[in-house]
Amino acid sequence: MILIKEQWELGVMRVAGKKLAEIVAGLREKIVVGVPTIDLDRITEEAILAAGAKPAFKGYKVGRAVFPATICVSINEQVVHGIPSKRRVAEGDLVSLDFGLVYGGYYADTAFSVAMPPFDADTARLLDTTEKSLYEAVARARVNNRIGDIGHSVQSYCESRGLGVVTQFVGHGVGRKLHEEPSVPNFGKAGTGYPLKPGMVLALEPMITLGSPRTRVLKDDWTVVTEDGSRAAHFEHTVAITPAGPEILTVL
Ligand code: MG
Repeated sequence: MILIKEQWELGVMRVAGKKLAEIVAGLREKIVVGVPTIDLDRITEEAILAAGAKPAFKGYKVGRAVFPATICVSINEQVVHGIPSKRRVAEGDLVSLDFGLVYGGYYADTAFSVAMPPFDADTARLLDTTEKSLYEAVARARVNNRIGDIGHSVQSYCESRGLGVVTQFVGHGVGRKLHEEPSVPNFGKAGTGYPLKPGMVLALEPMITLGSPRTRVLKDDWTVVTEDGSRAAHFEHTVAITPAGPEILTVL
């Protein structure tokens, strides 16, 4: 069932989204060559707790697997759901961070990718295209459009630029739970799927690769990597559909 949020619920979600965006802004400065990813996890968890919220991912279960950390950190060929560790961010690395918080009973979810200089032109193109494809998706998050319009916009934007669109992981509704209906694929046919209504809140999150879009999960049960070892990027915002148009909640 797709949950339509009331005005007061959107109000709480706006606060949750702003808190998350503030933490992202602070965290960006901490992603530097040499930092162990477990330190980024600790910094983020402390910031979330200091904001009066709780980490959304820590303890999240899929089957028997329990996610052990506050952030997902995925480097280079890792697409999503990487686990923080003692691994240090290195020169040239493409680092994707994905995390959420729950505040007042409502979730906000965001992700972004950055590259550590020096990095190659392909990595720059991947970052730029993936981020822009997120805003293509946001622009389609309008009343009377359909879920397929969002996926179609991401797919056509990225594939026309020679990039791979991950299909095994998708965006989702978000609100009282981290993952609500509907699923929001980054591919699809325009004019198909569930019609978008005011009060729906969606986590839009293109996951895009420099090579094959096919992925597999490592033995840690979480880390998703590209099958061909090509690099991947990931950008995500929590977006409310309002009568006035799309409203990105996870921005300052
Ligand atoms: Mg998400």
